[in-house]
Amino acid sequence: MSTQVHFGPTRSRESRFQLPKWDDSNPLKSIHITIGTQKLFTGMLKEDALSVDQRLYFSMCMDDLESKGVTFHQLKVTTDDLEKLINDYDLVIDCIGKSGPLFPFPLEKELSPFDLPQRKCFVGYFFGIKPNDPLGVNVTVLPEIGEMFEIPAITEQGPVTILFIMAVPNKDLDMFKGVKDSIEFTEQMKQSVQTFFPDIHTRMDIEKFALTDQNAFLQVAIKPEIRIPYITYNKKIVVGCGDSVFLNDPITGQGSNLSSYCAEKLYETLIDFKHDKWDESLGETYWNRTKTYVKEVTEWTNAMTQPLPEHVVQLLLSGVASQEQADSIAEWFAEPRTAHEAFFQKTSI
Ligand SMILES: Cc1cc2nc3c(=O)[nH]c(=O)nc-3n(C[C@H](O)[C@H](O)[C@H](O)COP(=O)(O)OP(=O)(O)OC[C@H]3O[C@@H](n4cnc5c(N)ncnc54)[C@H](O)[C@@H]3O)c2cc1C
Repeated sequence: MSTQVHFGPTRSRESRFQLPKWDDSNPLKSIHITIGTQKLFTGMLKEDALSVDQRLYFSMCMDDLESKGVTFHQLKVTTDDLEKLINDYDLVIDCIGKSGPLFPFPLEKELSPFDLPQRKCFVGYFFGIKPNDPLGVNVTVLPEIGEMFEIPAITEQGPVTILFIMAVPNKDLDMFKGVKDSIEFTEQMKQSVQTFFPDIHTRMDIEKFALTDQNAFLQVAIKPEIRIPYITYNKKIVVGCGDSVFLNDPITGQGSNLSSYCAEKLYETLIDFKHDKWDESLGETYWNRTKTYVKEVTEWTNAMTQPLPEHVVQLLLSGVASQEQADSIAEWFAEPRTAHEAFFQKTSI
Protein backbone atom coordinates (compact mmCIF):
# COMPACT_ATOMS: atom_id res chain seq x y z
CA MET A 1 0.00 0.00 0.00
CA SER A 2 3.02 2.29 0.01
CA THR A 3 6.72 2.79 -0.49
CA GLN A 4 9.01 3.42 2.48
CA VAL A 5 12.55 4.46 3.26
CA HIS A 6 13.60 4.27 6.88
CA PHE A 7 16.33 6.86 7.37
CA GLY A 8 19.01 6.89 10.10
CA PRO A 9 16.96 8.52 12.91
CA THR A 10 14.06 6.10 12.32
CA ARG A 11 16.41 3.13 12.31
CA SER A 12 17.97 4.30 15.59
CA ARG A 13 14.47 4.45 17.08
CA GLU A 14 13.82 0.92 15.83
CA SER A 15 16.97 -0.21 17.65
CA ARG A 16 15.88 1.68 20.78
CA PHE A 17 12.58 -0.24 20.79
CA GLN A 18 14.20 -3.53 19.78
CA LEU A 19 12.32 -4.03 16.54
CA PRO A 20 13.49 -7.07 14.57
CA LYS A 21 16.85 -6.50 12.86
CA TRP A 22 17.09 -6.73 9.09
CA ASP A 23 19.90 -8.15 7.03
CA ASP A 24 21.23 -4.82 5.83
CA SER A 25 24.25 -6.05 3.92
CA ASN A 26 23.19 -3.83 1.02
CA PRO A 27 21.73 -0.65 2.57
CA LEU A 28 20.76 2.60 0.83
CA LYS A 29 23.69 5.01 1.01
CA SER A 30 22.74 7.89 -1.22
CA ILE A 31 20.21 10.17 -2.87
CA HIS A 32 20.61 10.70 -6.63
CA ILE A 33 19.08 13.91 -7.98
CA THR A 34 18.15 14.49 -11.63
CA ILE A 35 16.22 17.42 -13.07
CA GLY A 36 14.69 16.71 -16.46
CA THR A 37 17.26 14.45 -18.11
CA GLN A 38 20.20 16.20 -16.43
CA LYS A 39 21.76 14.18 -13.61
CA LEU A 40 22.86 16.76 -11.04
CA PHE A 41 24.61 14.81 -8.29
CA THR A 42 24.68 11.90 -5.87
CA GLY A 43 24.55 13.02 -2.25
CA MET A 44 25.81 10.56 0.35
CA LEU A 45 23.70 9.95 3.47
CA LYS A 46 25.44 10.21 6.85
CA GLU A 47 23.73 7.00 7.99
CA ASP A 48 22.54 4.03 5.93
CA ALA A 49 18.82 3.86 5.11
CA LEU A 50 16.68 0.81 4.41
CA SER A 51 13.49 0.09 2.49
CA VAL A 52 11.63 -3.11 3.34
CA ASP A 53 8.22 -3.95 1.84
CA GLN A 54 5.79 -3.12 4.65
CA ARG A 55 3.88 -6.37 4.10
CA LEU A 56 7.01 -8.24 5.10
CA TYR A 57 8.21 -5.76 7.70
CA PHE A 58 4.98 -5.43 9.67
CA SER A 59 4.16 -9.12 9.63
CA MET A 60 7.59 -9.84 11.15
CA CYS A 61 7.14 -7.04 13.70
CA MET A 62 3.73 -8.42 14.66
CA ASP A 63 5.13 -11.94 15.08
CA ASP A 64 7.88 -10.47 17.23
CA LEU A 65 5.40 -8.54 19.41
CA GLU A 66 3.15 -11.57 19.74
CA SER A 67 6.11 -13.60 20.96
CA LYS A 68 6.62 -10.88 23.61
CA GLY A 69 3.02 -11.15 24.85
CA VAL A 70 1.11 -8.54 22.79
CA THR A 71 -2.35 -9.69 21.69
CA PHE A 72 -3.65 -8.74 18.24
CA HIS A 73 -7.32 -8.82 17.24
CA GLN A 74 -7.47 -8.48 13.48
CA LEU A 75 -10.74 -6.79 12.58
CA LYS A 76 -12.03 -3.68 10.91
CA VAL A 77 -13.04 -0.99 13.38
CA THR A 78 -15.96 1.26 12.41
CA THR A 79 -17.45 4.33 14.05
CA ASP A 80 -20.06 2.04 15.63
CA ASP A 81 -17.31 0.42 17.70
CA LEU A 82 -15.83 3.58 19.17
CA GLU A 83 -17.90 3.77 22.33
CA LYS A 84 -17.18 0.17 23.24
CA LEU A 85 -13.46 0.64 22.57
CA ILE A 86 -13.37 3.71 24.80
CA ASN A 87 -15.11 1.84 27.60
CA ASP A 88 -13.04 -1.35 27.31
CA TYR A 89 -9.54 0.13 27.22
CA ASP A 90 -7.40 2.54 29.26
CA LEU A 91 -6.37 4.38 26.11
CA VAL A 92 -7.44 4.30 22.46
CA ILE A 93 -4.89 5.37 19.83
CA ASP A 94 -6.39 6.04 16.41
CA CYS A 95 -3.65 4.98 13.96
CA ILE A 96 -5.63 3.58 11.07
CA GLY A 97 -3.51 5.32 8.46
CA LYS A 98 -4.60 7.36 5.47
CA SER A 99 -8.21 6.10 5.54
CA GLY A 100 -8.60 7.69 8.96
CA PRO A 101 -9.21 9.10 11.37
CA LEU A 102 -12.22 7.42 12.96
CA PHE A 103 -12.39 10.00 15.76
CA PRO A 104 -13.20 13.65 14.92
CA PHE A 105 -9.78 15.18 15.62
CA PRO A 106 -9.89 18.90 14.69
CA LEU A 107 -8.18 19.94 11.46
CA GLU A 108 -5.05 22.10 11.88
CA LYS A 109 -6.01 24.54 9.12
CA GLU A 110 -2.68 26.37 8.93
CA LEU A 111 -0.93 23.13 7.99
CA SER A 112 -3.69 21.87 5.67
CA PRO A 113 -3.77 24.33 2.76
CA PHE A 114 -4.99 22.06 -0.05
CA ASP A 115 -8.55 21.20 -1.11
CA LEU A 116 -7.37 18.53 -3.54
CA PRO A 117 -4.49 16.04 -3.89
CA GLN A 118 -1.46 17.66 -5.53
CA ARG A 119 -0.17 14.44 -7.15
CA LYS A 120 -1.43 11.12 -8.45
CA CYS A 121 0.75 8.29 -7.17
CA PHE A 122 1.57 5.25 -9.33
CA VAL A 123 3.72 2.72 -7.50
CA GLY A 124 4.96 -0.73 -8.45
CA TYR A 125 7.54 -3.16 -7.00
CA PHE A 126 9.46 -4.56 -9.98
CA PHE A 127 11.98 -7.14 -11.05
CA GLY A 128 14.19 -6.35 -14.03
CA ILE A 129 15.89 -3.06 -13.14
CA LYS A 130 19.62 -2.98 -12.54
CA PRO A 131 20.16 -1.06 -9.28
CA ASN A 132 21.80 2.34 -9.34
CA ASP A 133 25.30 2.84 -7.94
CA PRO A 134 26.01 3.75 -5.19
CA LEU A 135 22.76 2.13 -4.05
CA GLY A 136 20.25 4.79 -3.13
CA VAL A 137 17.01 6.60 -3.80
CA ASN A 138 16.94 8.09 -7.28
CA VAL A 139 14.81 11.24 -7.50
CA THR A 140 13.97 12.66 -10.92
CA VAL A 141 12.09 15.95 -11.04
CA LEU A 142 10.31 16.80 -14.28
CA PRO A 143 9.33 20.44 -13.73
CA GLU A 144 5.58 21.09 -13.92
CA ILE A 145 4.60 17.49 -14.68
CA GLY A 146 5.84 15.45 -11.70
CA GLU A 147 8.53 13.22 -10.27
CA MET A 148 9.87 9.66 -10.26
CA PHE A 149 11.28 7.99 -7.15
CA GLU A 150 13.28 4.84 -7.82
CA ILE A 151 13.83 2.97 -4.56
CA PRO A 152 15.80 -0.26 -4.17
CA ALA A 153 13.79 -2.34 -1.69
CA ILE A 154 13.80 -5.66 0.11
CA THR A 155 10.77 -7.91 -0.36
CA GLU A 156 9.76 -11.49 0.32
CA GLN A 157 11.23 -12.27 -3.13
CA GLY A 158 14.56 -10.57 -2.34
CA PRO A 159 15.93 -7.23 -3.58
CA VAL A 160 13.71 -5.45 -6.13
CA THR A 161 13.17 -1.91 -7.41
CA ILE A 162 10.23 0.31 -6.58
CA LEU A 163 9.20 2.68 -9.35
CA PHE A 164 7.05 5.45 -7.96
CA ILE A 165 5.65 8.08 -10.31
CA MET A 166 4.09 11.20 -8.82
CA ALA A 167 2.12 12.89 -11.56
CA VAL A 168 0.72 16.41 -11.50
CA PRO A 169 -2.95 15.72 -12.32
CA ASN A 170 -3.88 16.11 -15.99
CA LYS A 171 -0.32 16.82 -17.15
CA ASP A 172 1.85 14.63 -19.41
CA LEU A 173 2.98 12.20 -16.69
CA ASP A 174 -0.60 11.48 -15.64
CA MET A 175 -0.68 8.50 -18.01
CA PHE A 176 -2.41 5.77 -16.02
CA LYS A 177 -6.04 6.75 -16.61
CA GLY A 178 -8.17 3.66 -17.18
CA VAL A 179 -5.43 1.25 -16.04
CA LYS A 180 -7.20 -1.51 -14.15
CA ASP A 181 -5.02 -4.55 -13.62
CA SER A 182 -1.42 -5.56 -12.99
CA ILE A 183 -0.73 -6.32 -16.66
CA GLU A 184 -1.96 -2.93 -17.85
CA PHE A 185 -0.10 -1.26 -15.00
CA THR A 186 3.21 -2.93 -15.90
CA GLU A 187 2.79 -2.02 -19.56
CA GLN A 188 1.99 1.61 -18.72
CA MET A 189 4.97 1.86 -16.35
CA LYS A 190 7.23 0.50 -19.08
CA GLN A 191 5.95 3.12 -21.52
CA SER A 192 6.25 5.96 -19.00
CA VAL A 193 9.85 5.01 -18.18
CA GLN A 194 10.72 4.77 -21.87
CA THR A 195 9.20 8.21 -22.56
CA PHE A 196 10.34 10.20 -19.55
CA PHE A 197 13.14 8.43 -17.64
CA PRO A 198 15.94 7.44 -20.05
CA ASP A 199 18.45 6.65 -17.28
CA ILE A 200 16.14 4.08 -15.71
CA HIS A 201 15.23 2.77 -19.15
CA THR A 202 18.90 1.99 -19.91
CA ARG A 203 18.99 -0.16 -16.74
CA MET A 204 15.71 -1.94 -17.55
CA ASP A 205 15.78 -5.55 -18.78
CA ILE A 206 12.60 -5.67 -20.85
CA GLU A 207 12.44 -9.49 -20.70
CA LYS A 208 12.58 -9.58 -16.92
CA PHE A 209 10.58 -6.44 -16.19
CA ALA A 210 7.57 -7.58 -14.12
CA LEU A 211 5.76 -6.86 -10.87
CA THR A 212 7.10 -8.90 -7.96
CA ASP A 213 3.56 -10.18 -7.29
CA GLN A 214 0.04 -9.43 -8.45
CA ASN A 215 -0.62 -7.09 -5.51
CA ALA A 216 2.59 -5.12 -5.83
CA PHE A 217 1.08 -2.04 -7.43
CA LEU A 218 -0.92 0.93 -6.25
CA GLN A 219 -2.73 3.93 -7.69
CA VAL A 220 -3.72 6.53 -5.13
CA ALA A 221 -3.96 10.29 -4.58
CA ILE A 222 -3.47 11.80 -1.14
CA LYS A 223 -5.09 15.00 0.09
CA PRO A 224 -2.66 16.17 2.79
CA GLU A 225 -4.36 16.88 6.12
CA ILE A 226 -2.89 17.61 9.54
CA ARG A 227 -5.06 17.26 12.63
CA ILE A 228 -4.62 18.13 16.29
CA PRO A 229 -3.90 14.61 17.56
CA TYR A 230 -6.04 14.46 20.69
CA ILE A 231 -9.68 14.77 21.61
CA THR A 232 -11.89 14.04 24.58
CA TYR A 233 -14.53 11.52 23.57
CA ASN A 234 -17.08 10.17 26.03
CA LYS A 235 -15.09 11.87 28.81
CA LYS A 236 -11.89 10.01 27.91
CA ILE A 237 -8.79 11.15 26.07
CA VAL A 238 -8.17 9.61 22.64
CA VAL A 239 -4.95 10.27 20.73
CA GLY A 240 -4.04 9.90 17.09
CA CYS A 241 -0.73 8.82 15.57
CA GLY A 242 0.72 8.39 12.09
CA ASP A 243 -1.12 9.11 8.85
CA SER A 244 -4.47 9.04 10.59
CA VAL A 245 -3.75 12.52 11.96
CA PHE A 246 -0.53 13.61 10.18
CA LEU A 247 -1.17 12.85 6.52
CA ASN A 248 1.28 14.31 4.03
CA ASP A 249 1.81 13.88 0.32
CA PRO A 250 4.44 11.11 -0.15
CA ILE A 251 6.67 13.41 -2.26
CA THR A 252 9.38 13.78 0.41
CA GLY A 253 9.19 10.18 1.62
CA GLN A 254 8.63 11.24 5.22
CA GLY A 255 5.39 9.46 6.21
CA SER A 256 6.77 6.39 7.93
CA ASN A 257 9.63 8.40 9.46
CA LEU A 258 7.21 11.01 10.83
CA SER A 259 4.91 8.26 12.15
CA SER A 260 7.88 6.65 13.89
CA TYR A 261 8.93 10.00 15.40
CA CYS A 262 5.42 10.68 16.72
CA ALA A 263 5.04 7.15 18.09
CA GLU A 264 8.22 7.69 20.10
CA LYS A 265 6.96 11.03 21.44
CA LEU A 266 3.65 9.39 22.36
CA TYR A 267 5.48 6.60 24.16
CA GLU A 268 7.58 9.12 26.11
CA THR A 269 4.49 11.16 27.00
CA LEU A 270 2.63 8.10 28.29
CA ILE A 271 5.62 7.13 30.41
CA ASP A 272 5.84 10.68 31.80
CA PHE A 273 2.13 10.54 32.66
CA LYS A 274 2.17 7.06 34.14
CA HIS A 275 1.27 8.33 37.63
CA ASP A 276 -1.05 11.13 36.41
CA LYS A 277 -4.57 11.17 35.10
CA TRP A 278 -4.71 10.54 31.36
CA ASP A 279 -6.70 13.59 30.25
CA GLU A 280 -6.45 16.61 27.92
CA SER A 281 -3.11 17.63 29.38
CA LEU A 282 -1.60 14.34 28.20
CA GLY A 283 -2.88 15.07 24.69
CA GLU A 284 -1.65 18.65 24.86
CA THR A 285 1.83 17.53 26.00
CA TYR A 286 2.02 14.99 23.17
CA TRP A 287 0.98 17.62 20.59
CA ASN A 288 3.45 20.17 21.99
CA ARG A 289 6.23 17.61 21.66
CA THR A 290 5.37 16.68 18.07
CA LYS A 291 4.13 19.99 16.65
CA THR A 292 7.47 21.50 15.56
CA TYR A 293 8.58 18.40 13.71
CA VAL A 294 5.14 17.87 12.13
CA LYS A 295 5.17 21.51 10.98
CA GLU A 296 8.69 21.25 9.51
CA VAL A 297 7.92 18.05 7.61
CA THR A 298 4.54 19.30 6.43
CA GLU A 299 5.62 22.74 5.25
CA TRP A 300 8.63 21.29 3.41
CA THR A 301 6.50 18.54 1.86
CA ASN A 302 3.76 20.94 0.77
CA ALA A 303 6.40 23.24 -0.77
CA MET A 304 7.85 20.30 -2.73
CA THR A 305 4.47 19.78 -4.44
CA GLN A 306 4.66 23.31 -5.86
CA PRO A 307 7.16 24.81 -8.35
CA LEU A 308 10.52 24.96 -6.54
CA PRO A 309 11.53 28.44 -5.35
CA GLU A 310 14.49 29.95 -7.23
CA HIS A 311 16.82 29.83 -4.21
CA VAL A 312 16.12 26.08 -3.84
CA VAL A 313 16.87 25.50 -7.53
CA GLN A 314 20.16 27.35 -6.98
CA LEU A 315 20.94 25.16 -3.96
CA LEU A 316 20.31 22.04 -6.03
CA LEU A 317 22.53 23.34 -8.81
CA SER A 318 25.28 24.12 -6.30
CA GLY A 319 25.29 20.42 -5.42
CA VAL A 320 26.79 19.75 -8.87
CA ALA A 321 30.05 21.48 -8.01
CA SER A 322 30.25 20.70 -4.32
CA GLN A 323 30.07 17.19 -2.87
CA GLU A 324 29.61 18.74 0.57
CA GLN A 325 26.51 20.57 -0.67
CA ALA A 326 25.26 17.42 -2.40
CA ASP A 327 25.61 15.48 0.86
CA SER A 328 23.76 18.23 2.78
CA ILE A 329 20.88 18.00 0.32
CA ALA A 330 20.75 14.20 0.69
CA GLU A 331 20.49 14.80 4.43
CA TRP A 332 17.26 16.81 3.94
CA PHE A 333 15.46 13.47 3.69
CA ALA A 334 16.99 12.05 6.89
CA GLU A 335 16.76 15.32 8.86
CA PRO A 336 13.79 17.24 7.42
CA ARG A 337 14.51 20.15 9.78
CA THR A 338 17.49 21.00 7.52
CA ALA A 339 15.24 20.93 4.44
CA HIS A 340 12.79 23.24 6.17
CA GLU A 341 15.63 25.63 6.96
CA ALA A 342 16.86 25.53 3.37
CA PHE A 343 13.38 26.21 1.99
CA PHE A 344 12.12 28.80 4.44
CA GLN A 345 15.05 30.43 6.20
CA LYS A 346 17.20 30.81 3.11
CA THR A 347 20.33 30.25 5.19
CA SER A 348 23.14 28.10 3.86
CA ILE A 349 22.35 24.40 4.26
C1 LIG B 1 2.14 5.96 -2.56
C2 LIG B 1 2.79 6.18 -1.22
C3 LIG B 1 4.17 6.25 -1.12
C4 LIG B 1 4.78 6.47 0.10
N1 LIG B 1 6.14 6.54 0.17
C5 LIG B 1 6.75 6.74 1.35
C6 LIG B 1 8.17 6.75 1.45
O1 LIG B 1 8.88 6.59 0.46
N2 LIG B 1 8.72 6.94 2.67
C7 LIG B 1 7.96 7.11 3.79
O2 LIG B 1 8.52 7.27 4.89
N3 LIG B 1 6.62 7.10 3.73
C8 LIG B 1 6.00 6.90 2.54
N4 LIG B 1 4.64 6.87 2.48
C9 LIG B 1 3.87 7.11 3.68
C10 LIG B 1 3.85 5.89 4.60
O3 LIG B 1 3.41 4.76 3.91
C11 LIG B 1 2.90 6.16 5.74
O4 LIG B 1 3.17 7.44 6.26
C12 LIG B 1 3.04 5.17 6.86
O5 LIG B 1 2.77 3.87 6.39
C13 LIG B 1 2.03 5.55 7.93
O6 LIG B 1 2.01 4.59 8.91
P1 LIG B 1 0.68 4.38 9.75
O7 LIG B 1 1.01 3.32 10.73
O8 LIG B 1 0.18 5.69 10.24
O9 LIG B 1 -0.40 3.90 8.71
P2 LIG B 1 -0.46 2.57 7.84
O10 LIG B 1 0.90 2.08 7.54
O11 LIG B 1 -1.38 2.88 6.70
O12 LIG B 1 -1.15 1.52 8.82
C14 LIG B 1 -2.49 1.65 9.17
C15 LIG B 1 -3.00 0.29 9.57
O13 LIG B 1 -4.35 0.41 10.04
C16 LIG B 1 -5.14 -0.60 9.43
N5 LIG B 1 -6.53 -0.08 9.33
C17 LIG B 1 -7.01 0.85 8.47
N6 LIG B 1 -8.32 1.04 8.69
C18 LIG B 1 -8.66 0.23 9.73
C19 LIG B 1 -9.88 -0.02 10.42
N7 LIG B 1 -11.00 0.64 10.10
N8 LIG B 1 -9.88 -0.92 11.42
C20 LIG B 1 -8.75 -1.58 11.76
N9 LIG B 1 -7.54 -1.39 11.14
C21 LIG B 1 -7.52 -0.50 10.14
C22 LIG B 1 -4.52 -0.81 8.07
O14 LIG B 1 -4.86 -2.09 7.57
C23 LIG B 1 -3.04 -0.70 8.41
O15 LIG B 1 -2.52 -1.93 8.84
C24 LIG B 1 4.00 6.66 1.26
C25 LIG B 1 2.62 6.58 1.17
C26 LIG B 1 2.01 6.34 -0.06
C27 LIG B 1 0.51 6.29 -0.14
